[in-house]
Amino acid sequence: MSNHYDLIAIGGGSGGLSVAEKAASYGKKCAVIEPDRLGGTCVNRGCVPKKVMWNAANLNQAIKLSSSYGFEVVQKGFNWKTLVESRENYIHGINNWYTNYLKDSNIEHIQGYAKFVNDKTVEVNGIHYTADHIAISTGGVPTVPDVEGAEHGITSDGFFELQEQPKRIVIVGAGYIAVEIAGVLNALGSEVTLLLRRQQILGRFDSLMRDTLTEEMINNGINILPCMNLSLITKNDEGKLTLTGNTGFEVSDVDALVWAIGRRPLTEQLNLTAIGLKTDKYGFLPCDEFQNTSQAGIYALGDITGRAALTPVAVAAGRRLADRLFSDQTDRKLNYNNIPSVVFSHPPIATIGLTEDEARKIHGDAVKVYQTRFTPMLFSIGEQEEKTAMKLVTIGVQEKIIGCHIIGHAADEMLQGFAVAIRMGATKKDFDDTVAIHPTSGEELVTMR
Ligand code: NDP
Repeated sequence: MSNHYDLIAIGGGSGGLSVAEKAASYGKKCAVIEPDRLGGTCVNRGCVPKKVMWNAANLNQAIKLSSSYGFEVVQKGFNWKTLVESRENYIHGINNWYTNYLKDSNIEHIQGYAKFVNDKTVEVNGIHYTADHIAISTGGVPTVPDVEGAEHGITSDGFFELQEQPKRIVIVGAGYIAVEIAGVLNALGSEVTLLLRRQQILGRFDSLMRDTLTEEMINNGINILPCMNLSLITKNDEGKLTLTGNTGFEVSDVDALVWAIGRRPLTEQLNLTAIGLKTDKYGFLPCDEFQNTSQAGIYALGDITGRAALTPVAVAAGRRLADRLFSDQTDRKLNYNNIPSVVFSHPPIATIGLTEDEARKIHGDAVKVYQTRFTPMLFSIGEQEEKTAMKLVTIGVQEKIIGCHIIGHAADEMLQGFAVAIRMGATKKDFDDTVAIHPTSGEELVTMR
């Protein structure tokens, strides 16, 4: 069999699999190079296992709430190992599905690390493979800070390897992963402390989302400590950690420390210098709006580009790249504006477009905001209370919606349809003219005054 392909994707995650799958659908000969299990971060150490954990956490919350609805439920216990086992079985099923899918689609899976030899050739395990087009989609890995004893902590990768539920956990970070892990473990009964280096969580999110989530996390018993920097981590013979930080902060008897301070792109094994490609100062691989790197025939997809590190973005960019290269759609590219996303916190946040602050900076007084905050019906019965908050950011006399932010129960399932409307240029009047679905939380988005 010849080692020449129409397209080689380096990285068997969301971006690489998508570009190869689409290219193969055009009858092109493709290969995916991946040393690990297929599916990438999302399937193996990200979105998918996280969502299983989030669902488990929600079930525990629902059990607690159920007594308000008249159920006499006794929670006899929770088995972390069973949850992890079910989760991993599910993921192995997805890995196997991908393996079979590649076979059925005549896409070759080359197992190993790819290293560029020249702009048309990569080497894997000493064998050379050539291609007319090479898409780099190698993703990223969690960052670990340069702090004494940092190796005693784990990252989100390690979180998914935990065989026992940590009773007492400290999470460092303020972004998606930090608030998601904090929410899951808190809802499952761990004692959770979140250390922020600045004042607040989710710095780039709309203030209504940030403030509401902070309030809910504190109400749920999460200990949030702002302006904290760790300087030393030690581990005793029983495996317990002691964390020392600035301002005399010290906490001991900690079962696990999680670094959730961002991710860095994974390009060092690629030998990019062999093809004259340079990463930027953060290690990302620059590319244009068509995913072209500065080297003809070499493309960048997904987290390594430094733009919107989200699975559906990598998938969409990969598919569009294949459309452009192998069908007649020469202008096909991903529009990186108005990308919706969800933080699977407790409660979840769903967001699209500009925050109020961003909009005011750009458009000044042309911005008008509508917002609401209420207790959703689910929590109106009983003692357990959780708020929902929503904000629409509009611009101009037409009140075109340029931002929509929702936090609360079912926010994760609420935004997708609204995202279509917003992408199509919906105005506040379009929202108002839409008949509400009653009684739901979503109806508030079309009835805001
Ligand atoms: P994020 O970029 O979301 O957040 C990391 C945050 O950690 C920074 O914003 C920063 O906040 C803080 N931080 C950075 N360095 C330090 C430090 N030395 N000490 C303490 N805090 C620090 O990164 P994540 O790792 O959470 O997630 C990576 C990306 O993966 C996300 O941006 C997202 O694109 C994607 N993702 C998406 C998910 C989803 O769609 N649900 C889920 C998980 C990840 P500050 O500057 O305010 O201190």
